[in-house]
Amino acid sequence: RLLRIPVNQHKLTREQILPCALKVTDTLQQAGYSAFVVGGAVRDLLIGKTPKDFDVATNATPEQVRDLFRRSRIIGRRFRLVHVMCGNDTIEVSTFRASAATEEDDTKQITDDTGRIVRDNVFGDQESDAERRDFTVNALYYDPSTEEILDYRGGVADINNKILRIIGDPATRYREDPVRMMRAARFAAKLDFHIDETTRAPIAELAELLGNVPPSRMFDEMLKLLLSGHALRAVHQLRAEGLHHGILPMLDTILEQEHGKRFINAALHNTDLRLQAGKSVSPAFLFASLLWHELQINYQKRLSRGELAIPAFNEAMEDTLNQQRNRLAVPRRLDGMMKEVWSLQARFEQRSGSRPYRLLTHPRFRAGYDFLLLRAESGEIATELAEWWTTFHVTDEETRASMLLTEP
Ligand code: ATP
Ligand code: MG
Repeated sequence: RLLRIPVNQHKLTREQILPCALKVTDTLQQAGYSAFVVGGAVRDLLIGKTPKDFDVATNATPEQVRDLFRRSRIIGRRFRLVHVMCGNDTIEVSTFRASAATEEDDTKQITDDTGRIVRDNVFGDQESDAERRDFTVNALYYDPSTEEILDYRGGVADINNKILRIIGDPATRYREDPVRMMRAARFAAKLDFHIDETTRAPIAELAELLGNVPPSRMFDEMLKLLLSGHALRAVHQLRAEGLHHGILPMLDTILEQEHGKRFINAALHNTDLRLQAGKSVSPAFLFASLLWHELQINYQKRLSRGELAIPAFNEAMEDTLNQQRNRLAVPRRLDGMMKEVWSLQARFEQRSGSRPYRLLTHPRFRAGYDFLLLRAESGEIATELAEWWTTFHVTDEETRASMLLTEP
């Protein structure tokens, strides 16, 4: 069932491939190995999108790949692969893997008692490599030297029909790696594809398996989803598939409250617009927004127990970050900035004396101010306060002085 699709049918030419990826496939092929551009890059180029990165698949082992490239190193444990660097680009080179079904050496591929693959280093041929990939549209191999696409699973037809279809038996594939359910939601949103019914059907029932995925992997996958440029659609897709429960505690309750929903939607929409305009988005800012309502709940709890405002707020920030860590390991290096953005919010209320001037010089003023705008946009606070800061932070000294409120 292998389709070899020539360039006059798919129109993807060698010039569209990143030079660094060409260098990798050419070098491997000259050394006698087979090598293809694979995965997201082939898919995105066929759709007419700019690929985020280029991955290469080869029959050379990680050690053989590393020996061919001076600037390269083997990374990963669960899934060993080689990073090859040229200039500022990095190409991920993975060795063809065998699919789960053909497994015999159980030290290289290990599954836990729910069927989840915890290590996946059994090498195989190209056909089995196609088999173990997640979706048909992600299992296309492009050979830059012949400009041919090798399609084992009907991925080109699915791209043309805008269908996201998992390879193999859906329930088995989700058990092997529950993260594939989140990937389904992400790709459907990013590509604007329809999830095939058979692919979708088992998701609601298996959603709880996400609870077995290590929190650090959940964070990585969630970050990919949030930085996909289609975060708003992807988060709603997660919710539609019943996948939001274990990810962000209360994401469901938040999205059911009017304010919460408006706040999250504004934050995600804002993220998408920034990324589409080629600007950067800080993960700390994103997670600070997603957790803001959790923080409010924790803060109110402490206040109602009679705690004083400032210590209650500080402790509530810790509560929020710790609750999160069990499910989605937001790295500790983001804690500092998240806390700063949150803590600054109270300081925007103070608009008399020298305080507003001091706030302007705070290194996180911009992030705090952007956060304030989201709160105003969602109806949480008066737009008047946000507008005051919008003027105050850009206007001249004289106007600033006239804007200060008198001490109460
Ligand atoms: P993106 O545009 O987000 O980079 P991508 O398809 O390249 O999309 P990656 O996460 O970079 O996604 O993975 C590269 C390729 O590796 C995928 O296209 C897919 O073939 C395979 N792959 C990645 N993760 C999985 C998984 N969990 N299960 C099976 N195959 C996977
Ligand atoms: Mg990729």
